[in-house]
Amino acid sequence: MGRVFNFAAGPATMPEPVLSRIRDDIPDWRGTGMSILELPFTGREFRELAEKAEADLRRLLGAPANYKILFLHGGARAQFATVPLNLLAGRGRADYVETGYWARRAIGEAERYCQVNVAASGAASGFSRIPPQSEWQLDPGAAYCHITANETVDGVEFHFVPETGNVPLVADMTSNFLSRPVDVSRFGLIFASAQKNIGPAGLAIVVVREDLLGKAHPLTPTVFDLKAQADNGSLYNTPNTFAIYVAGLVFEWLLGQGGVAAMERASLRKSSRLYGVIDAHPFYRVKAAPECRSRMNACFALADPALETRFLSEAAAHGLVNLAGHRTTGGIRVSLYNAMPHAGVEALAQFMEDFAYRHG
Ligand SMILES: *Cc1c(COP(=O)(O)O)cnc(C)c1O
Repeated sequence: MGRVFNFAAGPATMPEPVLSRIRDDIPDWRGTGMSILELPFTGREFRELAEKAEADLRRLLGAPANYKILFLHGGARAQFATVPLNLLAGRGRADYVETGYWARRAIGEAERYCQVNVAASGAASGFSRIPPQSEWQLDPGAAYCHITANETVDGVEFHFVPETGNVPLVADMTSNFLSRPVDVSRFGLIFASAQKNIGPAGLAIVVVREDLLGKAHPLTPTVFDLKAQADNGSLYNTPNTFAIYVAGLVFEWLLGQGGVAAMERASLRKSSRLYGVIDAHPFYRVKAAPECRSRMNACFALADPALETRFLSEAAAHGLVNLAGHRTTGGIRVSLYNAMPHAGVEALAQFMEDFAYRHG
């Protein structure tokens, strides 16, 4: 079988040039006579590789010098605990905006460490909209305010950066990281798992303002103490060297493509093509309010849910795979990350038009 168009939510499709680079590097990394998998993490070669990955990511993000960029373990869910452990600084209260499945999981974890103020919630709308800031009730004594920039399961995305005054804004950008320009200086901390929009699973990226470091709870495991990791260039213990290497290749690929501005243009084009088909056919139903629709994860249902299995199997026969919605929501989910080429979206859009004509 040739390569398919993989619309999985994560681990997800990767850029083909990156995959062939990996294939070439596996036996012998840059003439060292060693595989990339065999490089010691404390050696000069790996350190240079990690520094280059960090510098390229800093360039892509336009992150100011007073922000640390860390490569950590445990994915985004470790950050659900790491954030309160590092940022509460004895305060005991934090704001969370409840926008869907992942925000709820972040809240559940944070409640183990502090009193959570749900500053706003989309629950009443079935998480079909991001509550506008005019509805938020922020706690001025909160240690930070946490948002989920893109809800991977519910298909809603923040298209604005909230104003939280002196309270540091924390964002889980796991599923829309590097998909659009972001003014990093508006955030205290940004985190993202790598397996959605960057590369392989098993790596989390944290971008944090320096002045927020150094106040971790004394029982914080040292591997999750952001200051300890920052002081050691993310090499406090053996990191996921292979994942950092692959992420570095993806950063190079992104820079070559024109960076995050180019990614935003591409994702606007891909998502409009897809939502255009959905809006033109009452056969497809999207829950997300138009102004909150995710450009990364388009979630919709068929008007006749009995046709879903057929939709998925016919799509797979066309080389369009991993389109099933999250197990909690059902329906269809189309993930349109940076590495998904427009051709994949075009093929899917044509399949959807044809399927609607045949079954509508
Ligand atoms: C996938 C996802 C997570 C969980 O990531 P893990 O790497 O499995 O911990 C958290 N938040 C969002 C928004 C996600 O999409």
